[in-house]
Amino acid sequence: MKDQVRALREDFDRELKAAGDASALQALRDRYLGRKAGAITALMKALGALGPAERRVAGQELNELKTHVESGLDAARDRAASDSTAQRLARERLDITLPGRRPPHGRRHPLTAAREDLEDIFLAMGYEIFDGPEVEDDYHCFEALNMPADHPARDMQDTFYLAEGGLLLRTHTSTGQIRYMLSNPHPPDVRIICPGKVYRRDDDITHSPMFQQIEGLVVGKGITLGDLKGTIEAFLHALFGAQFPVRFRPSYFPYTEPSVEVDLGCVVCGGKGCRVCKQTGWLEIMGSGMVHPAVFEAVNARLGRVVYDPEEVTGFAFGLGIERVAMVRHGIDNIRLFYENDLRFLEQFPG
Ligand SMILES: [Zn+2]
Repeated sequence: MKDQVRALREDFDRELKAAGDASALQALRDRYLGRKAGAITALMKALGALGPAERRVAGQELNELKTHVESGLDAARDRAASDSTAQRLARERLDITLPGRRPPHGRRHPLTAAREDLEDIFLAMGYEIFDGPEVEDDYHCFEALNMPADHPARDMQDTFYLAEGGLLLRTHTSTGQIRYMLSNPHPPDVRIICPGKVYRRDDDITHSPMFQQIEGLVVGKGITLGDLKGTIEAFLHALFGAQFPVRFRPSYFPYTEPSVEVDLGCVVCGGKGCRVCKQTGWLEIMGSGMVHPAVFEAVNARLGRVVYDPEEVTGFAFGLGIERVAMVRHGIDNIRLFYENDLRFLEQFPG
């Protein structure tokens, strides 16, 4: 029995060293301590055949072996468990010094940026922003602006009519002039800009059936053409830089008298002449003029009383295309680029 116990102990020690993982350890445990087929269990059963003295000695040796095997297996199991934990921790180690992943940031569309810059300039000059509806009626879009039904100036704008109710998509933000004057909280004084989308049947490389305008209207006592010129010059210099000259040319709009077109010295060539300014050195940038007395009279008629007396108050109005501003600003020659949502185009702008 003594030799058998020693041999078993040597076998166990050797096999324990070779056992690499938890399942090998479990197999080892079964082989030595298993209740049915375990080697130590078998020897324990054989004790009964020995004489009392011999059984006591052998029993003691067997118990020591059993304790040795159990503690050896337990220690090996703990080691295996802590090894695998260490391995897992090593595998899952976080490098907290790595910079985080930045989600891609959006940016303002070049047209939004242009509109907000325009708004900022006029807000700084004490203007308020007025929003009007894009679906309009004939009165606000044409009639009140001195364009009765048979007026030839309508031909340039005659555009998208809705099937019902005499409604149409507004062709200019000048509708905002009428809507504001009708609801003016402090008549007869007005100082507004009205930015927004407008719709016309134009469609070529510099015109789109939908584009954005900013309308401006100033009304009060003693407003003159000099105020118009000073305001527009200050605004264009704030937007493009004071180094560019501003030029006023006589023009015609039904709702202003006198009317002027405003040109800006070409921002691309500085006035020498280039493709963008068609070799003229000037860029057409906006239209404006003194409010036609017929517009005041149309508003008074709708209000049913004289709020804007053409003998007392005067005003000026102006309008410009936001796309036009963005195109001049960035040297863009095709208006369609603004609407195609091509990131290769949009990502070129600071936003
Ligand atoms: Zn030029």
